[in-house]
Amino acid sequence: MADPRGFLTVRERQLPQRRPVPVRIKDWREVYEEQERGELQRQAGRCMDCGIPFCHQGCPLGNLIPEWNDLARKGEWDDGIERLHATNNFPEFTGRLCPAPCESACVLGISQDPVTIKQVELRTIEEAFEAGTVVPEVPERLTGKTVAVIGSGPAGLAAAQQLTRAGHTVAVYERADKPGGLMRYGIPEFKMEKSVLDRRLEQMTAEGTRFRCGTEVGKDITGEQLRQRYDAVLLATGATVPRGLPVEGGDLDGVVQAMDYLPDANRVALGETVEDQILATDKDVVIIGGGDTGADCLGTAIRQGARSITSLEIMPQPGSSAHPLTRGRRTPCCSVSRAPTRRAATGSTPPAPSRCSPTSRARCARCGSSRSSAPRPAASRRSRAPSGRSPRSWCCSRWASSAPRARASSSSWSWRPTTAPTSRATGPTSPTSRACSSPATRGAVSR
Ligand SMILES: Cc1cc2nc3c(=O)[nH]c(=O)nc-3n(C[C@H](O)[C@H](O)[C@H](O)COP(=O)(O)OP(=O)(O)OC[C@H]3O[C@@H](n4cnc5c(N)ncnc54)[C@H](O)[C@@H]3O)c2cc1C
Ligand code: SF4
Repeated sequence: MADPRGFLTVRERQLPQRRPVPVRIKDWREVYEEQERGELQRQAGRCMDCGIPFCHQGCPLGNLIPEWNDLARKGEWDDGIERLHATNNFPEFTGRLCPAPCESACVLGISQDPVTIKQVELRTIEEAFEAGTVVPEVPERLTGKTVAVIGSGPAGLAAAQQLTRAGHTVAVYERADKPGGLMRYGIPEFKMEKSVLDRRLEQMTAEGTRFRCGTEVGKDITGEQLRQRYDAVLLATGATVPRGLPVEGGDLDGVVQAMDYLPDANRVALGETVEDQILATDKDVVIIGGGDTGADCLGTAIRQGARSITSLEIMPQPGSSAHPLTRGRRTPCCSVSRAPTRRAATGSTPPAPSRCSPTSRARCARCGSSRSSAPRPAASRRSRAPSGRSPRSWCCSRWASSAPRARASSSSWSWRPTTAPTSRATGPTSPTSRACSSPATRGAVSR
C-alpha cells in the first residue's frame, strides 16, 4: 500500500543532480550524480498506487511500477528488485537510457509533476548490485535444446538470458568485437558507462550464455550452417542501416552519419586507439536531428572540443513551452488526453481539463486535430484505455503512428548561438549549454 499522503506532503519532483558542465565536458563519465537515498525514497512515496495505473500502460515492458515504487519507499530493496526483474532483464540499462513513457503516462502528472519512476528503477537495481543480490541464475537442468541468437544488442541479450535460464544452450553471434550492440558502440559513455554493460555480461556468461564475437552471420558463417547446428535461430540484428537525407550536397565531404562518428569516439573514450577517427575538434559542427542520436553527437562533439555546434531540429526548441516533452512533463498530454480515457474507463462524463487552455481543449496540442473530428476511443479489455493508441494521445492515431514527429509541428526551427561560437571553453555559459541543460531537455548537451 502506497503512502496515502505521500503526493500531498512531497509535491516537488526532485531528480539527481547533474555534474557541473565545466567538469563533465572534460571527461566521458556519466552526467548524473547519485541521488541521496532518503530523497529518492521520498520521491518514490509520491506514487499513489493508482487503481488504474497508467504508468503500466506507458511502459512497453509492463513494469510493475507502483509495486516497486512502494518497496523503494520502504527501503525493501530485495523485494523491489525481485518485482523489477520480473518484467525487465536489464533495469540498469532502461533506468539510464529509456525515455520513460511511464512518466508521461503517470496519473500524478495531471495535477503535479509525475513520479520519478525512472530514478526509482535505476536506484532499485543499483542497490541490488551493491548488495550483491544480482547473481547468476543458473538453470537447474538443461533441456538439451540449442539456440543461436544473432545480435547482442539489448534485444539479443534479453532473449539469450531468458533462453539460458530456461535451460537451453545458447550462443550469441555478434559481428562486432564485443557484445552490447548500440549500447556499446552507439550510446556514449556519458549516458551509460560500459562497465554497467560488462557487469551484466559477466552474469550472463556465468549463467552459461556463450558469446561468439567477431562473427558476422552471412559472411563468416551462413544461416544454413546455423540452422543445421542449432535447434532454433533467433534474429536480433537491430537496424544499423543509416537513413540519409536525400538533399543536394548530402554526399559531400564532411557529411557523416552519426553511426560512423560515434563508435570511434566510444572506443577512444575507453582508451582504444582508432586510426582515421572522425573528430569534431576545432571544427564548426552542424547536427541534423535533435533526438537521442543527435544529442549523443552533440555531447561527443563538445567533449572533443568543437569550435561551434549548431543543432537543426524539425520540432520546437527543447525546453520551450511548445515542445511536447515539456508539455508532457507538466501534464500527461495536456489533460485533454485524460478525458476520453476516463470516459472509456468509467462510462461517466469526463471532467473538464484542469490545466489546458481553451485552445488546447479545442485542438489536440500534438497533432492539431480538432476534438470533434477525433475518433472516439474504445475501451480495451487490458487497460480500458483507447485501444491501440498511446495512453498519451487521446485522439491521436496520427501522433501515435510511425511518423508522428514531423506532423506534430507545423514549423521547423534551427537554432544557433547568438553570441560567440560554442567551444569547450565557453560551453558552460554559452547559449548552447543553456538551451540544452533545461530539465525538460531529455537527450541534449547535458548528455
Ligand atoms: C546513437 C544512438 C543513441 C541511442 N540512444 C538511446 C537512448 O538514449 N534510449 C533508448 O531507449 N534508445 C536509444 N537508442 C536506440 C537503441 O540503442 C536501440 O533501439 C537498441 O539498441 C536496439 O536494440 P537491438 O538489440 O534491437 O539492436 P542493436 O543494439 O542494434 O544490436 C544489434 C546487434 O546485431 C549485430 N548484428 C547485426 N547483423 C549481424 C550479423 N549478420 N551477424 C552478427 N551480428 C550482427 C550488430 O552488430 C549489433 O551489435 C539509441 C540509438 C543510437 C544509434
Ligand atoms: S500512474 Fe504514477 S502515481 Fe499512479 S501508480 Fe503509476 S507511478 Fe504511481
